[in-house]
Amino acid sequence: MKIFITRQIPDQGITMLKEKGYDVVISLHDRVLLKEELIKALKGNGYDAVLCLLTDHINADVFDAAGPQCKIFANYAVGFDNIDLKAAKERNIFITNTPDVLTNTVAEHTFTLMLAISHRIAEADRFMRGGEYKGWAPMLLLGNDLSGKVVGIVGLGRIGSRVAHHAQKGFDAKIIYYDIKRNEEFEKEFFAEFKTNIDNLLEETDFVSIHVPLLDSTRHLINAERLNKMKRSAYLINTSRGPVVDEKALFNALKNKIIKGAAIDVFENEPKFEKGLEKLDNIIMTPHIASGTEETRQAMSRLAAENIISVFEGKEPPNAVL
Ligand code: NAD
Repeated sequence: MKIFITRQIPDQGITMLKEKGYDVVISLHDRVLLKEELIKALKGNGYDAVLCLLTDHINADVFDAAGPQCKIFANYAVGFDNIDLKAAKERNIFITNTPDVLTNTVAEHTFTLMLAISHRIAEADRFMRGGEYKGWAPMLLLGNDLSGKVVGIVGLGRIGSRVAHHAQKGFDAKIIYYDIKRNEEFEKEFFAEFKTNIDNLLEETDFVSIHVPLLDSTRHLINAERLNKMKRSAYLINTSRGPVVDEKALFNALKNKIIKGAAIDVFENEPKFEKGLEKLDNIIMTPHIASGTEETRQAMSRLAAENIISVFEGKEPPNAVL
């Protein structure tokens, strides 16, 4: 069996595949392959599986280049908006992802962003490095507490509910949430309130945290009109996918103090971001690293390998999205 990996990833999954005796080929470029490069790498090489990343755009052309013997594209991410599922289905190709193993890490990163923006950590760090600290002062760099505030979760799935857990259990926050599905068990355990309308959530929330997948129904879910509905004192946190938030509208809202601050890990046109955001003090930006710990990236590597091994052994892969 032959497997192509589109970029170097942490080693544990690769070792698992090699120990099974499979032939593993890893792209020699430490960067995202251009579409033509990916097609060239696959065409005529008889790969039985491809381990791909969220930065690879996988569509009909790529499936056709891989050829009919290719049984699975194992995505090294929980989101799979980079893959044309319809084209995969038409060709009977398994698509798998890496859920659960990254939930805690992404929730931790989300929380780090929430606290960092409301306690002005990045600004304070720049202040120190700039040699501006002249001694304790009662009005210096005042932030806001998270404790006891209203945290609004948009998309109460694995990651959203873990963020809600930390906010309620650790910080006595009141949880409100919006999702296409209601979860009454969760409501009981976390004294949470379900909102059938996202606008109601935005009007009442101090910290809005976005955890929906990128779908047609969630693209620009947070737009200028919705940012206007938020409290002027509110913070927006996004660790889901960039296009869920209209980035131009976010820039305007931050610049004009429509909302108090934002902390985001994902961008509409990565690796680019809206010009001017870098000049604002009321935003913290991280480069899509919410799942980026050594432990989790290894766990994702093992899980992607497990999915491939299952398919090769004629079993249902544990994380088939298709
Ligand atoms: P999940 O599937 O467990 O949760 C998603 C939730 O969103 C579900 O409860 C679903 O019902 C809800 N939802 C779907 N469509 C909706 C809509 N139109 N309106 C409201 N709610 C809707 O997924 P998860 O494991 O919690 O991950 C969530 C997302 O986080 C992923 O899809 C991925 O895009 C993103 N993510 C980002 C990073 C990162 O590095 N920044 C890492 C992991 C995941």
